[in-house]
Amino acid sequence: MRYFLVFFTGILLSSSLVVAQKPEQRSSSEIYHSLEKLNFLGTALYIAAHPDDENTRLISYLSNKLKARTGYLSLTRGDGGQNLIGSELRELLGVLRTQELLAARRIDGGEQFFSRANDFGYSKHPDETLKIWNKEAVLGDVVWAIRKFKPDVIINRFDHRSPGTTHGHHTSSAMLSFEAFDLANDKNAYSDQLELTETWQPKRLFFNTSWWFYGSEEKFKKADKSNMAHLDIGTYYPILGKSNNEIAALASSQHLCQGFGRLSQRGSENEYIELLKGTMPKNSGDIFEGIDTSWSRVSGGKAVGDILYEVERNFDFTNPSKHLPQLVAAYDLLQKVDDPYWRKLKTEELKDIIADISGLYLEASAETALANPGGKVKVNIEAVNRSSVQMKLKNISISSSDARIAPSIPLANNKKETFEIELQIPKTTEFTSPYWLKEKGSLGMYKVDDQKLIGKPETPRAFVAKFDIELSGRTIVFERPVIHHYAKPDKGELFQPFEVLPEATARFNDKVLIFADGKSKNIPVTIRAHADNIKGELELQHSKGWKVDVASQAFEIAKKGDEQTLVFTLTPPENEDESYISPIIKLNGKQISKELVTIAYDHVPTQSVLLPSEAKVVRLNIKKSGQHIGYIVGAGDEVPESLRQIGYIVHIIEPNMITKGSLDKYDAIVVGIRAYNVVEELKFKQRYLFDYVENGGNLIVQYNTASRRGKQLENLAPYPITLSRDRVTDENSEIKILAKKHALMNYPNTIGQSDFEGWVQERGLYFPNEWSKEFTPVLSMHDKGESPKKGSLLVTPYGKGNYIYTGLSFFRELPAGVPGAYKLFANMLSLEKNVQPTKLN
Ligand SMILES: [Zn+2]
Repeated sequence: MRYFLVFFTGILLSSSLVVAQKPEQRSSSEIYHSLEKLNFLGTALYIAAHPDDENTRLISYLSNKLKARTGYLSLTRGDGGQNLIGSELRELLGVLRTQELLAARRIDGGEQFFSRANDFGYSKHPDETLKIWNKEAVLGDVVWAIRKFKPDVIINRFDHRSPGTTHGHHTSSAMLSFEAFDLANDKNAYSDQLELTETWQPKRLFFNTSWWFYGSEEKFKKADKSNMAHLDIGTYYPILGKSNNEIAALASSQHLCQGFGRLSQRGSENEYIELLKGTMPKNSGDIFEGIDTSWSRVSGGKAVGDILYEVERNFDFTNPSKHLPQLVAAYDLLQKVDDPYWRKLKTEELKDIIADISGLYLEASAETALANPGGKVKVNIEAVNRSSVQMKLKNISISSSDARIAPSIPLANNKKETFEIELQIPKTTEFTSPYWLKEKGSLGMYKVDDQKLIGKPETPRAFVAKFDIELSGRTIVFERPVIHHYAKPDKGELFQPFEVLPEATARFNDKVLIFADGKSKNIPVTIRAHADNIKGELELQHSKGWKVDVASQAFEIAKKGDEQTLVFTLTPPENEDESYISPIIKLNGKQISKELVTIAYDHVPTQSVLLPSEAKVVRLNIKKSGQHIGYIVGAGDEVPESLRQIGYIVHIIEPNMITKGSLDKYDAIVVGIRAYNVVEELKFKQRYLFDYVENGGNLIVQYNTASRRGKQLENLAPYPITLSRDRVTDENSEIKILAKKHALMNYPNTIGQSDFEGWVQERGLYFPNEWSKEFTPVLSMHDKGESPKKGSLLVTPYGKGNYIYTGLSFFRELPAGVPGAYKLFANMLSLEKNVQPTKLN
């Protein structure tokens, strides 16, 4: 995977400043491709709501076929979804998906932007979405993105005219784009932004339609297309050795945590865009029609174009460095262009081409991957000019620091020069961490106060090396981020971001601790050193009523990267209570209460995220019967760990070990989320599960999905049951208890309205909408404006035992420490059980 990425990052244009990856080294044909892009002055912005919404076929087409500067504005970072490749969820999933989007853009040639909107989970209607997001703020962010990026053409992924037919975030993204199209040019709208940028009027707005929005391919075929343009997104690029749809598949295959790895595609294919604002181009595919996309577009640009078009026409693929004098002349003229937008953008593109045609390799690699504010690190510099072009390396400096040397030496053809610079990290340097997670936001919004950061995909790197190089009689400053470059015998050469971290961080092993009775628990706290020889004290901060055995404990760690675990004993209050505990590290007069989370995968650069270190502690008075629970793992959830926390002994059952009678020893069997969707073998074991119930067992099946074709396991339950796509997304929606007298609502814990308070993200999903008369529906709930949904919790006796099917989101509620969810789950496990020694003992 690594090889694959390094190979492709080389192929297409992208700004190398933002990520620490292998410095780009482009071949002649790739340089030619960027030269074509340099000579196109047009911009297109694609707008949708989530990572993976973007149509990479169209983004690649805009960038590689039309050669436009192309951006994707994803309103959210996708925090609300699930993770197929690791344990990151919520804001950490957002960090991973941000990197997957950047990886996709490195392949399709686009740039990536965001708003401050948070993906808070599924939303059925834009009215709800725009209430939970701060509509004014998110609209302002879209206006900001348009004013900064200055697109000629905007393309929405979703239809702004069909609220309620898809995810509310989707429709909202289109509605906000539709509104921002005109607002961006209104100087009275978001006028404070105009201190930092200018108003901008895009020329055309399109909706990227397809048969999907029409219900079927047949219906789309018949639809009136007079207002639509179509583009052949299967076009082949000999210069890149790939067709557009092949590039697109590679790009969307970066969304690995969403399971988007896919086959590449080839062959002609049409993509349709429907005009919403502006004039319809006469020539269907010419979306920039009537817009000057040549160098004449900018005042003073024609002279630049005269040189650069000539280089493009007569490009020498075998000796591209011969064009250097022309490129430097164009560079000089470009510096005189008044328009700051095009001057800055095209200067960066031109500098990359100048470096590439001369095989100029520049690198600044810190000796270690991380350092602390106030610390020092050695930075190894490498500079080599692999052409006969005369060059002189005058100065090297590192931004935000005093580090500077002045070698003032010629860079002779293919002679490697190396230097060492000592980088003294200023005490005021901010820690490396995603800027949008530095302060606590709301359910729907990240809190970012610095307007200049809004929209950026990542926190700008603190340290950038600047190389002043004289060539063709003029000095050009080339910039490269300081990185950490090393090799691993089992992985090869690796590049990773250089980061600034506190001297130590601390974390709890468990983020939620449930005290099911008054007993104390041991709480391990792990300190990780990010500097050598650290020595200090650790305190456990807690709220009133909770007691800790010692006020503080001493720690001492000799080596950076090592850890030490200290154990505190925490005693809960007598009555039910919920609060938070956090570790406070006292070190060299400083107090640190941060946790470091490292996100490391092969397809994205390693990420360091600093979060407030805390754990939720919950004192419950929970009653339960039974002790030994068998758990059949499905798509993966943390329910087994949660059940252990309240005192159950949970045994993980491998499906192939299930045989006749093998389950009888368990007090209850719980089937993990989506088990029947992902564990093929389970359908052959279903009869043994039913036998278990018949003999007096208690089987609890958590949600499975109904497939789009309506196919589901025929014998999911002992009596017929039909899964639907019904879900209740409002976690505060009102609950009606239908079966007030049922044991599930009374034994051993009495369940009332208060047990449905404090739920997170949603109530549940994929509720059955039909079931046979043997089932008792226990609860009714629904989202605003919808009919009551009664299938969230269904129970039926079968033989001597009980079968329960539930789409309630226990897999979210238990790990979040929601008291009522624990009580209800304990009741499910205790159903019809006599409180007596269990069969295992
Ligand atoms: Zn989406």
